[in-house]
Amino acid sequence: MALMINDNCEVCDACVLECPNEAISEGDPYVIDALRCTECVGEFDTPQCQLVCPVEECIVPNPDFVESRDELQLKYDSLHG
Ligand code: SF4
Ligand code: SF4
Repeated sequence: MALMINDNCEVCDACVLECPNEAISEGDPYVIDALRCTECVGEFDTPQCQLVCPVEECIVPNPDFVESRDELQLKYDSLHG
């Protein structure tokens, strides 16, 4: 399941550099590319963007991209060759 950023985003920029897949881009709110977000599967046990985001309930599951852990690992593998 990819994550998404909702309107609670305070445009603080903390999340962008934390993403191992370069999935987050600037905007208001910031935007997660669902085709690149693996929920950090492949690199970390926990979504790094959620860890650093200072706003509660700002980075949430994207209901349009429900994926299993195996699918997320395959996505990661295809992104990183
Ligand atoms: Fe990037 Fe991980 Fe956040 Fe997805 S969960 S946007 S891969 S930091
Ligand atoms: Fe928005 Fe949270 Fe990213 Fe800051 S860390 S830009 S509040 S999503």
